[in-house]
Parts: sequence; structure tokens; C-alpha cells
Amino acid sequence: MEVLQDVKTRVYKFGNKAADGNSKMKNLLGGKGANLAEMCNIGIPVPPGFTITTEVCTEYNLLGKDKVVSMIKPEIEEAIFNIESLMGSKFGDKDNPLLISVRSGARVSMPGMMDTVLNLGLNDDAVIGLANKTGNERFAWDSYRRFIQMYGGVVLGMKPEAKEDIDPFEEIMEHLKYKRRIKLDTEFTIQDLKDLVYDFKDAVKKRTGHDFPTDPWDQLWGAVIAVFNSWNGDRAMYYRRMHGYPADWGTAVNVQAMVYGNMGDNSGTGVCFTRDAGTGEDVFNGEYLINAQGEDVVAGTRTPQQITKLGSIRWAELAKVDEEDRVKNYPSLEELMPEIYKELDGYQEKLEKHYKDMQDMEFTIQDGKLWILQTRNGKRTGAAMVKIAMDMYKQGLITEKEAVLRIEPSKLDELLHPVFDAKALKEAHVIAQGLPASPGAATGQIVFFADEATKYKYTILARIETSPEDLEGMNIARGILTARGGMTSHAAVVARGMGKCCISGAGALKINYKTRTLKVDDKVYHEGDWISLNGSTGNIIEGKVATSEPELSGEFAEIMKLADKYATMQVRTNADTPNDAKIARNFGAQGIGLTRTEHMFFEVDRIKAMREMILSDTLIGRQHALEKLLPMQRSDFEGIFEAMQGLPVTVRLLDPPLHEFVPHQLETQRSLAEEMHITLEAVKIKVAELEEFNPMLGHRGCRLGITYPEITEMQARAVIEAALNLKERGIVAKPEIMIPLIGTLTEFESQEAVIRETANKVFEERNDTIEYSVGTMIEIPRAALIADKIAKYADFFSFGTNDLTQMAFGYSRDDASKFLPIYIEKGILKVDPFEVLDQEGIGQLVEMATERGRNTKPNLKVGICGEHGGDPSSVEFCYRTGLNYVSCSPYRVPIARLASAQAAIKATL
Ligand code: PEP
Ligand code: MG
Repeated sequence: MEVLQDVKTRVYKFGNKAADGNSKMKNLLGGKGANLAEMCNIGIPVPPGFTITTEVCTEYNLLGKDKVVSMIKPEIEEAIFNIESLMGSKFGDKDNPLLISVRSGARVSMPGMMDTVLNLGLNDDAVIGLANKTGNERFAWDSYRRFIQMYGGVVLGMKPEAKEDIDPFEEIMEHLKYKRRIKLDTEFTIQDLKDLVYDFKDAVKKRTGHDFPTDPWDQLWGAVIAVFNSWNGDRAMYYRRMHGYPADWGTAVNVQAMVYGNMGDNSGTGVCFTRDAGTGEDVFNGEYLINAQGEDVVAGTRTPQQITKLGSIRWAELAKVDEEDRVKNYPSLEELMPEIYKELDGYQEKLEKHYKDMQDMEFTIQDGKLWILQTRNGKRTGAAMVKIAMDMYKQGLITEKEAVLRIEPSKLDELLHPVFDAKALKEAHVIAQGLPASPGAATGQIVFFADEATKYKYTILARIETSPEDLEGMNIARGILTARGGMTSHAAVVARGMGKCCISGAGALKINYKTRTLKVDDKVYHEGDWISLNGSTGNIIEGKVATSEPELSGEFAEIMKLADKYATMQVRTNADTPNDAKIARNFGAQGIGLTRTEHMFFEVDRIKAMREMILSDTLIGRQHALEKLLPMQRSDFEGIFEAMQGLPVTVRLLDPPLHEFVPHQLETQRSLAEEMHITLEAVKIKVAELEEFNPMLGHRGCRLGITYPEITEMQARAVIEAALNLKERGIVAKPEIMIPLIGTLTEFESQEAVIRETANKVFEERNDTIEYSVGTMIEIPRAALIADKIAKYADFFSFGTNDLTQMAFGYSRDDASKFLPIYIEKGILKVDPFEVLDQEGIGQLVEMATERGRNTKPNLKVGICGEHGGDPSSVEFCYRTGLNYVSCSPYRVPIARLASAQAAIKATL
């Protein structure tokens, strides 16, 4: 009862250039609802309707259907009445029926992730009313059969039973087409459509055991509840997990008067973008179909035509359609309906200026009148995101700071992947061409089903068309190829959002799911065959194509330059080889924050000496082995210092448990015994001795250097000698020697003493010196607690947040994958704390240690070198905490640079 008494508004109306809501209310009305309201407010023609708030979805999840229906019923009745008055028709009326659409709309756009029902309100009476009202019986019955089909699928669960099956309604239609010897839906007669309606209802009754609902109000409640349920459907949950959106956001429900694009040749429907979502080019573009409903364009069952003349000419070139044929059979909207086009062009300009961002719009032309059904900030590839931000800045639409803030740092990742090698491309064998739906280079083995995308290491998902069910597989596959569908098909839109290479509408491909083959002319490709996709040209290539490293050029370089103008916190890289160091420098790294020296010991010639050192029982034996390692390690450091040309390089002393270096397989143990002239038994005993119950909490980090100071000695010598050697060659090296895993001050002191003594010895031997510093990682909670004491001696701190997370949470880094996914699914944790820094808990340790360290030494240099150094939200946290730098893997350097700049800009807003 308390719930019924509360007075908050749960239903927001819009229509006829007025609305209860506006674009700022995205959290409450969902993105779609807020934008529909906003469009009404700025005078765009939008079919009237209303939005049920996202809060109602959450209430539904808590209270269930009956309570929620009784709670919102009066408001819904009033809102339907409002649509009725604006449209001059009546819901459920048999002479003049109002038909509506019911769509989901979360606060962020999740294309195709949730469900939509169109033509709601039709039944055996209303269909006659609609036929009489429009004078178009065919249209009325076509709408009715579509409604049953959609409602059946979305609300009543009439989906294919097996993945090889087609949609049960499609099957009935195919059967009738076969019987009637026709090919297209448009060839159905009115009687055919009536028969379909009958057969569809029959199929529903057989499968669900219930009659198809005839009361429009029952239909409406069924659809509203189905939309709420879809928020917790597999697709939406997967999408949420992928993007880290919380489950308690809920979805709004948008109910709108239907307008029809399928009322004849003076009607149509389409999707358009104010700029190119694939490349970012500033051209209005999109696709439409005459005499069709929205789902026809997106589903890709008919290949749509281009909206602009320019787009149409470009399309014809790719599709190899000559100009005469194009103008006659595939004219652009601009050529076919110039007045409507002009109006649409005006709205797209107005909307882009209003929202100051690229818009993705849906429209319908009903009997010569244009309606805008939706607008939203368009999904785009990483390349388009960068170009659009830079162009809008140059066009004066947004400021420099806004341009930097427009970039989603993690999306830059797409621009950092290898691209096809230009030379290899020239020699490639192109087997067919489709539409360049989402740029990129992808090579992989063919699979035909989304749930088999992991069958091989690298896969290309080839489908006749994709559907929202395929989302997970699309995300896993390297590239997506469809035989049907245009640039706005589901595959194309989703792939662009994921930044995944996609070619759509490759009509020359004959895909057969049953035989798992793809045929082009006479050549057959089977599941598992290799193909390559060039998403920028639409070329489908036989076999593998070589790739090369990407470059920071063009707008990407420009936006990074702008970012550097604002970034105050530096970005370093974690690099263990000269090659990694070079890549990172090219991406703008300002130093190395972590060189894990142990990685150098895994190479073939070194692992032997390393094992010899570990297996030796005497100091002499270990020193002998270390002498072999010294020159190798020294030359590694020389390579890295040289690559970094005077930028600081943090070298960490040996860290992992020693058992990681010894052989565990009998064969390798045997050959090691031979090489070392000891018995196999002796090797086995030593390996067993090194086994630990909790190696991560065992004999590792500085504990190694304390038990075997000769290791630290060798490493310190290698660093100092390498720097001196470079000095002789006129190259400056700035080594920072870092002691890992300390928990007590004495641990630090003991290791520092070995390092400094060794350095002094080398300086004496060489009669020369270099500058170096000695600092420590803060990765054990106790070290964070005594940071003030450590700072007295340490020259710098670097947070090892991998270990810090492991130790403060008490989650083993090596075993957490067993339970973390379940934790995230159940909402125990929102995200994986090893990927995104836990600011609430671990963050406190970072803040506290920084503060305590700087209390002792105000200029203490503090950085982070755990995996979190490349995660945008963690980078922002580091900025707020006052860290001097973050350090991340080479390919994440540009991402961290941007995140660092954004953090600095946000602090000024
Ligand atoms: C860390 O613990 O965060 C770190 C960088 O060291 P490693 O991952 O090598 O343990
Ligand atoms: Mg560590």
C-alpha cells in the first residue's frame, strides 16, 4: 500500500513538440526516452508516446508483475489517452485503431540487446479497421502478420529450437513461398497474408498451449513485462558484463504511436548517421528501403539503398553496378524523394549541432510525411572516434578539452593492433567483396556459428546475417563476415561498436549452415579454412595475410599531441626487452617503470646458467653460474638503456619463486643432470625442495636477494656496468634499481647495502661513476603501513598493485580465475580487482603510503607498475592521488597518456 501512495512520476509523456522529460534525464528515461523527449522539445517531428522509467524496471525486479502493473496503470492509461488525442485514433478500436510500438531503452545504448515489439494493438477486428482506415488491405494484413511474428518471438518465446533451425515463423513463410513458387515477401497476396496470420496463431497455440492474446491491453502489458525481462536476458547480461554496466540500472520502456514505412511506394524507412561511423569522415550517410518497416533495414534481409547520392555512387562502385542500373534500380533517397531528403538533411544537421556529437538516427516516411523515430550518439570505431573528435574541434563544434575528453581511452586499443602489410595485400587473392562495414584487418579460420567462435585460436565468424544472440561469439571472433545486410545491419552496427573488423552484405557468398561451407562461384571453403578480411575495403581474401605494426599518425597523432598538452602525470612502460622499449617509445612512453629482469633468464642460453645457479649447493657454484649470467644481463640492460636514450629506466631485482625456473619434466631433468654432471636423483631432490605450498607468499622477491646476496650483487653490477659502457659511447643512462616485495625496513636496508657496495666497487674498478637511485616496490600491505620509515632510505616508490591486490584481498593471483567470474556474475564484486584498481580498499593503501612517504620525503617520486597502470579509471585514480607516473605495457601507453590527460582536464572542470 505504501507503494501505491507514493507520488513519484513513473511515466513521462512526449509528442507534438512538447515533452515531460529532456535529454538530461538519461538515467531515469534511458537514452532513447530522454532523446525522444529532447527531440520533441526542439521541434523535430516525433510520433507521440511515453516512457516508463528505468526505476520501474528495478521495482519490477523487486516487487513482481502484479504490484508494478497496479502501480503504473493509471499513469499508462492517461498516457495512452494522450497519444489517442494527438493521433485521432483509439487503442483497441475496431474502426480507427491506434497501433503502438514498445521498445526497450537503457541509459546507454545497447543496440539489438533488448527487445522491441511493433504494430501492437492489432487483432482480428483492428486489422479490418486498419484496412478500412488506410484503404490498404494488404498493408493491414502484412502489419498483422509482422506483429504476431514479433510478439511471438519476443513475448511468447517462439524462437528457433536448434541453432541450425530457422525462425519458426520464417519457416512457415518459406513453406508458403515454396508452395506458391514465389521468392519475395512482397509477392504474397492478401489471401496469403491472411493464411499466414492463421498459421502463425496456430503455431503459437501449439507451442505455448495458449491462444494469441487479442485484447490490446493484455498485449501491452505482455510487451512491457517482456522488455523488463529482457534486461536480465542472456544478451543484455553479456553486454553489461562486457562493458561493466551494473545490473541495477534497469531499462526504460518506450511506447510510441506507430508510423508506417510499409504503406506503399510513398513510404519507407531508414537509418542514418551524421558522419561515417566506420572512418569518421564528415559525410551524411545511411540506408533506406521503400515500402518497409524498420526491422527490414536492420535485419539485413533486403539489401538497402543509400540515402545520399554520393553514398549511392560509392556503393555502386563496390557492388559493381553501372550508373544506369543504379539510377533505375537503386536510386538514393536524395534522387528519389528530394523534398523528404532535404528535410531529413536539415534535421540531421540540427541534431548534430544540438548534441555536438555524431548522431545515429532512425526515420520513417509514412505516405510522404517524414518522422524521426530515434536519435542517439552513434557507436563508432576507434578510428572514427578519433577523427570525429579532431574534426569537430577543428570545425569549432567542441573545445580542445572536449575533444580530448571525447576519446574513450580503452577504444584506442583498436588503433594499436597490427594492420595488414601493404606489400602482402598487393599479392593477396581476393575471392569476393562485401561492404566495408567496420574497418580493420582480421585473419582467422572460418566458423559458422557464434557459439563455436572459440573452436580455433583465431576465427572469422561467417553468417548469412547476425542476430543479437550472436553477440558473444562476435566479440570473440577476429572478424565478422555476412552474406546479407548493409552498412546499418546488426552485424555492422555491433561490430563497429566493438571495434571489430566486419564485412557485410557480401552477396557472392553462398553460406550453408548444414554443410558448414561457404561457396564463392565454384570454390567451396569449409569450416576451419583460413580467410582474411580487409574491413576498410570490403575485400575477402583467401588464406592468411601478413601484418605489420600500426603507427601513431594523422588524427591519432594530433589528438595525442593535444592530450600531452594537458597531461601532468607521466606515462612510462613495463618493458623487458629493447624491442618492447622501442615500441613503447614510439607510443610516447616517458621512461620504463618496470623491467622484470627474470624474463631475461627464460631464453634458451640463459635458462641453463640460471638452473645451474639455483641447483648449486655452494656459494662458489652459484657465483660460477652467475658469472655466466652477468654478461648476458649486462648486454640486455645496455640494449634497453640505449633504446630509452636518457629516459629513466627502473630495473627490478629478481622476483619470482625459484621453482619457476627449474625443469619439472623428467626428460629435461635428465638432460640437466647430464649437463651439470650430477645424478638425476640429485636434480629431483632439489626440484622437490623448491616446491612451496604458497609460492606467491614464499621464497621470492627480496627474500631471494637476502638469502643469496650474490644474485643481487650480480644484477647490480650488470646495471651499473651497462650504464658505464653506454656513458663511454656518449649515451646517457638513468638506472633506478628497484627492490621487490619488501615488508620491513631492514629488508630494504640489507638489499640497498649490497647494491650500493657493488656500485661503489664498480665505480672504483672503472674509475668512473654514473647517477643511479635505489627504491622499492610497495606491494605488501605492511610496506604501505610503514611507508614513512621506508621513505627515509628509498629514493622512490613504485606500487606493485598486482601483489598489493593479491595480498590485501587475500586472493591468489594464480587461482582467482576459479571464483572471480562467479563473484562478478553474482555481483559480489563489480569488476575484476586485478584489472581495475579497487579504489575503495587497495586505493586506501596507495593513498596512505604516498602520503606517509611524502611526509618523510616531500619530493619522493611515486609511480605504479601493476597491471592497473594501463586501465583508464585506475590511471585517473593515480592522478588524483598525486602519483608522478603510471607504467603499463607498451601497447597501452597511448591509452594511459590519454587517461592521464583526461584526469587532468576533469580536475579543472
Ligand atoms: C606487481 O606486483 O604489481 C608487479 C608489478 O610485480 P609482478 O606482477 O611482477 O609481481
Ligand atoms: Mg609484484
